[in-house]
Amino acid sequence: DMPSLNDIRSTFLNYFAKQGHEVVDSSPLVPRNDPTLMFTNSGMVQFKNCFTGVDRRDYVRATSAQKCVRAGGKHNDLDNVGYTARHHTFFEMLGNFSFGDYFKNEAIPFAWELITGEFDIPKDKLYTTVYHTDDEAFEIWKKVGVPEDRIIRIATSDNFWQMGDTGPCGPCTEIFYDHGDHIWGGPPGSPEEDGDRFIEIWNLVFMQNERFADGSMVDLDMQSIDTGMGLERIAALLQGTHDNYETDLFKYLIEASATVTNSDPFGDQNVHHRVIADHLRSCSFLIAEGVLPSNEGRGYVLRRIMRRAMRHASLLGATDPVMHKLVPALVSQMGAAYPELGQGQALIEETFEQEETRFLKTLDRGLKLLDEASVDLDKGDVLPGETAFKLYDTFGFPLDLTQDALRAKGVEVDTDGFDAAMKAQKEQSRAGGIGLGDAADVKVYFDIVDAEGTTEFLGYETEKAEGQI
Ligand code: ATP
Ligand code: MG
Ligand code: MG
Ligand code: MG
Repeated sequence: DMPSLNDIRSTFLNYFAKQGHEVVDSSPLVPRNDPTLMFTNSGMVQFKNCFTGVDRRDYVRATSAQKCVRAGGKHNDLDNVGYTARHHTFFEMLGNFSFGDYFKNEAIPFAWELITGEFDIPKDKLYTTVYHTDDEAFEIWKKVGVPEDRIIRIATSDNFWQMGDTGPCGPCTEIFYDHGDHIWGGPPGSPEEDGDRFIEIWNLVFMQNERFADGSMVDLDMQSIDTGMGLERIAALLQGTHDNYETDLFKYLIEASATVTNSDPFGDQNVHHRVIADHLRSCSFLIAEGVLPSNEGRGYVLRRIMRRAMRHASLLGATDPVMHKLVPALVSQMGAAYPELGQGQALIEETFEQEETRFLKTLDRGLKLLDEASVDLDKGDVLPGETAFKLYDTFGFPLDLTQDALRAKGVEVDTDGFDAAMKAQKEQSRAGGIGLGDAADVKVYFDIVDAEGTTEFLGYETEKAEGQI
């Protein structure tokens, strides 16, 4: 029998519990200890201060399954959803941690034993990478039995991990699985590495540095371990597929999406269901924590994800709200592991339905305008920024939604023009005597966030002026 996502999560936590690790609950998606981070993007976030020694717990080894959202900031996978087999906006990161306790010599054998022993993954499908100067890690991989030609030295930031621009960080070593030459892609370090043939399963970070806002970096007193393995990726592997969206949970959600939209779960429509299933998860988990769609900060990221999902539902022919109808399917699959979903179910459904009702009023007309404006555009052409701004301003289309809508055609958006239109509108409303803090000002804030692709969260109080975000 194939293990389900729920089984695999338990196997992982039990394995590390047996090795003396404290099983720690997932921390919230909205970080409690870090105003610079929009959403929790990895397992180490709640332990950030344990690596620097500022925070001491009554354990030095921990393991967790951490809720993560990567839809902004340093790690942003929003644009990957629907395009790769391995990225979600919401996923669970399985991790083991050592705070000044064990280091490379134990962390690598732990990972190898779990992967090749407990999970019984064939060794001849595995590759590892190390930071180019890390001879120590190279030797340990050799010692556990990885052939030298499968230990790849990488000099790029791919093998130097950091949560954000500041904080604990360090060189890392990663484990990849080769799904076979029927899938496009190349080994890590090769030009084709972004394909889905060689999929990164697990990242082991050797926490030994701390980076500060001025860019400088120091050695930490302690040597620690921080690892992260994507539950959905290891599940895909253990369920005999390379595709996260073909695991038990996603098949279930995609079926549900096909049912409520009365469409084919496979074929051309499949991509829309993938986006819907993914976005259903991230939005539901965020709403369950009290994040609500708004025009600012975290709420705006949520709104952007929700509206993207709604566009895909509309492409499947939905003319009425549908996302809220999918919430029970999610709760049935993930509610046992995450009780906040069941507790928040009514709020999640209501929030989806309200946002959909609101957006459906303008979605159709916006899509029509977009169709007309782009009918003569081909691959390599650019949609005028003015048009993207009109879609934003009049029809509530976040910039990234417009970009996503044009991506299949290979058409880009003139984001400089979009910025200029935004700025012009802001100046106009200023000249007209409309005070700061009004809607136009808020728009400039989103504009910058969108344009920079940086949603590092600096707090609601931050002056919303250009150059400061
Ligand atoms: P990739 O190179 O595939 O984008 P990454 O190097 O950005 O992954 P890490 O930051 O090292 O990922 O995170 C640790 C692990 O979390 C990864 O090895 C992977 O298993 C998982 N993971 C990372 N991003 C995602 C995502 N967007 N969706 C699902 N799993 C993810
Ligand atoms: Mg990534
Ligand atoms: Mg990577
Ligand atoms: Mg990685």
